[in-house]
Amino acid sequence: MKQQSRLNGWSHGSPPAAAGAAGSRAAASAESGREAFDVLVVGGGINGAGIARDLAGRGQRVLLAEKDDLAQHTSSSSTKMIHGGIRYLEYYEFSLVRKALAEREVLLRSAPHIIRPLRLVMPHEPSMRPVWMMRIGLFLYDHLARREVLPGSETVDLRRGPIGAALQPRYRKGFAYSDGWVDDARLVVLNAVDAAERGAEVLTRWRCVDARRAGAQWQVRLEGPGGASRQVGARALVNAAGPWASQFLREHAHVPDPKSLRLVKGSHIVVPRLYEHDHAYVLQSPDRRIIFVIPYEGEFTLIGTTDVEHRGPVGQARIDDGEIAYLCEQAGRYLRKSITPADVVWSYAGVRPLLEDEASDASAVTRDYQLDLDTRGAPLLTVWGGKMTTFRKLAEEAADLLAAPLGVSAGAWTRGAFLPGGDLSAWIGAPQRPDTDIQRFAQALALRHGEIPAPLVHRLARGYGSRAEALLADGLGEAVAPGLHEAELRHLHEQEWARSADDVLWRRTKLGLHLSEAQRAAVADWCAAHWNEDAAPAARAPQSLGRTETTWN
Ligand SMILES: Cc1cc2nc3c(=O)[nH]c(=O)nc-3n(C[C@H](O)[C@H](O)[C@H](O)COP(=O)(O)OP(=O)(O)OC[C@H]3O[C@@H](n4cnc5c(N)ncnc54)[C@H](O)[C@@H]3O)c2cc1C
Repeated sequence: MKQQSRLNGWSHGSPPAAAGAAGSRAAASAESGREAFDVLVVGGGINGAGIARDLAGRGQRVLLAEKDDLAQHTSSSSTKMIHGGIRYLEYYEFSLVRKALAEREVLLRSAPHIIRPLRLVMPHEPSMRPVWMMRIGLFLYDHLARREVLPGSETVDLRRGPIGAALQPRYRKGFAYSDGWVDDARLVVLNAVDAAERGAEVLTRWRCVDARRAGAQWQVRLEGPGGASRQVGARALVNAAGPWASQFLREHAHVPDPKSLRLVKGSHIVVPRLYEHDHAYVLQSPDRRIIFVIPYEGEFTLIGTTDVEHRGPVGQARIDDGEIAYLCEQAGRYLRKSITPADVVWSYAGVRPLLEDEASDASAVTRDYQLDLDTRGAPLLTVWGGKMTTFRKLAEEAADLLAAPLGVSAGAWTRGAFLPGGDLSAWIGAPQRPDTDIQRFAQALALRHGEIPAPLVHRLARGYGSRAEALLADGLGEAVAPGLHEAELRHLHEQEWARSADDVLWRRTKLGLHLSEAQRAAVADWCAAHWNEDAAPAARAPQSLGRTETTWN
C-alpha cells in the first residue's frame, strides 16, 4: 500500500524552503519504476527520528523505516537524563560534556511538556571522590556552557530537611546540581510526528532488508507486516540502526568490514516510591560507577543503571538477577529504606551502541558519537554511538554533512523550533521559563476541561502539551482502563503510530505501571478489536492536527 503523508507545513515561522531536487527525483523514479525519496533513514530510535525531522524540515523527501515500534529499543531504555554527564569529566571528555550541557536548555525550551529540570543531590562519601575534586567538577559543570533556566550547583547540609532525611544519617554533606529529565520514548515519537508533518513518510514495523547502490541511487527493499514488501529508491541512505549499525552495514548494505560497536547493556529497576521529595540522588558506588535514583511516574522510583558487556542478540537484552541485586545493594548503601529484589515492580534493559575506543572498563567507553559519510557512489551516512541528550545536534550535523552531496541549500533550523505540543503560547502567552510555563499550561487546560479529573488532565498536559486540546476535541469517550480513554487511544493510533497495547502502555505512556494485569489485558483487547487493520501492509501516517507551533528564538 502506497503511503502519502505530506501534511501541513508550519502555520508560522516556516522552516527554510526545499532545495529544488524535484526534477532529479522524478527522473530517477521514472527510470527505476520505484518510489523515489531523497533520503531513506533506517532506524526509528532518537537518532533516526531526529535526522528524519531535520532533513524533512530542509525540504528533503524522507522515508523513515523502523523494523519494530518507534523507540522500541535503546531509545526507550535510557536513564532519561538530559545531561552533560558529570562523570565524563573524569575521563577528560570536555568537548562532549560542553556539547551536551549546551543542549540541555535548547531541548527544555523545545519541549517543556516532556522535558523538565531535575535537581540532583550527590551525598558526599569520603572514601570516594574528595571534596576538592567534587568542587572542581561542579564548577566546570556550571561554567562549561551557558545556563539561563537551570540553577547552579551548591553544597547541601544533609543533616536537615527532607533530602537528607531519605538518606542514612551518616551522610551529612552533599552537592546539588541541575540537569534535565526527558520522557525518552515520547521524544522519539514527537520527532517522528514533526518529520511527518514536514512531509516525511514514517513506516513502523518495516525492516530494511536490502540496500544496494545503483549509479547515483540506493535501491532498497523493505519488508513489512504480513509479508508485505516495498521497493524504494533513495538518493542517500542514513544508517541510524543504533546497536544494529554495524550489522546493518554488513548484512543488508553489503559494506565489507564495517567499524565495530561495543555493546554495553544497561538496566534499570522501578520500585514503589522511596521518598516524597522531587530531587534525584546520584550515588557513587565502590567500583567508581554512578547510580541514579530518580522520582518516577509519581508513585515510583527509578534506579539505574548497570554497565555490562552484552554478547547475545542485540534486541534481546534483559536485566539479570546479578544486576537487580547490584542496583538494590548500591541504593541500599545510601538510602534509609532498604530495597530488595522483591520490591521491583518493573525493570528494563537497553544496549548502548558505544564507539569502540579500547577502554577496558565499559563505563569508561566514550559516549560521544561519530558520523561517517561514505560518498563512494550514492551517499551513505552512518551514525555511531551517541546520547539522547545530543540527538538534535547530531541530526543537525548529519543533515549538514548530507547537504553538499544532496544539493540542499536550506540550513540548520531546529535550534529554535518547538517539538509538537511544545508551543504553549496560545494558552499562556510568550514562553518564559519552561518549568513554570508547563505548570501554567496544565492549570489553563484543567480550567477549560473542568469535567476531566485533575490527575488525568495533568497527565495529558505533560504528555501532549498543546496538542492535548485536539485530543480532547470530541470528548474523552469511553474509559478502556482507569485513566485511559478511547480519545487518547485514537490519538495515539492516528497521530503517533501506536499499533499495539505495548506501544501505548510502555512507550507512548507509562500507564502499564499504574494498571493491573486485568486492566492491561482490557487495553490489549481493545487495541486488537479496533486496530486489526494493521494486518494490512503499511502503517498509516498521522493526519495533521493543524500545526500551531511557532519558533522560540
Ligand atoms: C541503559 C542506558 C541508559 C542511557 N541513559 C542515557 C541518558 O540518561 N541520557 C542520554 O542522553 N543518553 C542515554 N543513553 C544513550 C541513549 O539512550 C542512546 O544513545 C540512544 O537511545 C541511541 O539511539 P539510536 O537511535 O542510535 O538507537 P535505537 O534507539 O536503538 O534505535 C535504532 C533503531 O534501528 C532499528 N533498526 C535496526 N535495524 C533496522 C533495519 N534493518 N530496518 C529498520 N529498522 C532497523 C531498531 O529497531 C531500533 O529501533 C542511555 C543508553 C542506555 C542503554
